[in-house]
Amino acid sequence: MKYDAIIVGSGFAGSVLARMFAEDGMKVLVCEKRSHIAGNMYEEEQENGVRVHKYGPHIFHTNNKKVFNFLEKYGEWYFYEHRVLGKINNVLVPIPFNFKSLELLYSQQKANEIKSRLLEKYKNVEKVSILDLVNCSDEIIKEFGEFVYKNVFENYTAKQWNIPISEVSKTVINRVPVILSYDDRYFQDKYQFMPKNGYTKLFENLLAHDNITIKLNTDALNYLNVSKNKIYVQEEEYSGIVIYTGQIDQLFNYKYGALPYRSLNLVFENYDMNYYQSSAVVNYPNEEQFTRITEFKYFSNQLINKKTTILKEYPRKYDYKDEKSIPYYAIISDDNLMQYKKYYNLVEKIPNLYMCGRLAEYKYYNMDAVIERAFELYEEVKENGKTEKTKRKK
Ligand SMILES: Cc1cc2nc3c(=O)[nH]c(=O)nc-3n(C[C@H](O)[C@H](O)[C@H](O)COP(=O)(O)OP(=O)(O)OC[C@H]3O[C@@H](n4cnc5c(N)ncnc54)[C@H](O)[C@@H]3O)c2cc1C
Repeated sequence: MKYDAIIVGSGFAGSVLARMFAEDGMKVLVCEKRSHIAGNMYEEEQENGVRVHKYGPHIFHTNNKKVFNFLEKYGEWYFYEHRVLGKINNVLVPIPFNFKSLELLYSQQKANEIKSRLLEKYKNVEKVSILDLVNCSDEIIKEFGEFVYKNVFENYTAKQWNIPISEVSKTVINRVPVILSYDDRYFQDKYQFMPKNGYTKLFENLLAHDNITIKLNTDALNYLNVSKNKIYVQEEEYSGIVIYTGQIDQLFNYKYGALPYRSLNLVFENYDMNYYQSSAVVNYPNEEQFTRITEFKYFSNQLINKKTTILKEYPRKYDYKDEKSIPYYAIISDDNLMQYKKYYNLVEKIPNLYMCGRLAEYKYYNMDAVIERAFELYEEVKENGKTEKTKRKK
């Protein structure tokens, strides 16, 4: 076998590691089962010329300078601050909920009362968790928290996860805070940029290295397998490094059952108009079956006259037996994490096998976090050789 490392998957986890190994002089093979690189960040052009994110909208944001400096080497980026509206009681209000949202939904007098209570209670605090608000001892704040919880969080979360909000992990609920000011940006991170020529171009640059060979339409599990704590490639034992970024349960043939995920039905629609909506994303927490509508021209900065493309996201069940079903979100619960751990115990016995990324580690990673994780894994592979591995972080 002529490769020093085999990388399964070409999302950020796989591509960043491939590049770093290649820079060190290692020969790297990247196997990608899809017909394209870039994992879930993949972008393609619609017939009308609008560039869309095929697997759902991806907005880059980070506070990690090292991550952003790394990405800057592989493409131009432009400053983009993401803004989202939500349809609440038939009014479009900023999400995360902020003081403007409050004023749009309450009378002026009531809005002023809530604002002053919030500012008094949370001095010098920029944002607060919805769970803090609903548990607050101040009755006015608690009532406000319950309003936001019911109208912004409850139905959206139930739609997204198909379970009552009470059963959803607190870390998921806390991803969207309530902002204690008029700041209407969806993210408050220091670096908020989008790749000028799209993510696909960025990945092309990232993987363009003489030491990297890419095989598309190649399901690694068709020729790589694990047996008796060793890795075999086409029946021959392989002692190089294997970075696996696919589903961990699939690697072990679902031996301990399929790990549960939530999937999405993504419906793209083209319109002959300049813009369909007044913001890049509009959330529909309540009446509609879809959770949000994304309009891609806000991201791509393309000057296309009288043409636009939107995406409606309908959450749905994931079925591991259906090849077309895509695992989007790991469903985090104690039971599911225990099931994951059983799989990870198998990985730990194989010295040259490393897990990286949202599917291999069964967790939600933002793009910057998965890149950070790839950096960390690179250091470990480099320093510790093939004997020590990081555990999946909580
Ligand atoms: C709907 C949605 C929206 C998101 N929006 C944002 C956002 O706005 N901002 C943000 O920071 N993050 C966002 N994320 C998170 C982001 O998608 C992840 O951080 C990123 O995809 C993680 O990269 P990865 O390499 O781990 O996984 P992926 O991008 O999924 O890449 C894994 C790759 O492995 C390949 N693969 C799997 N199994 C095999 C196999 N057996 N053989 C060969 N190839 C295989 C897959 O085809 C895929 O290409 C979003 C996620 C979702 C689901």
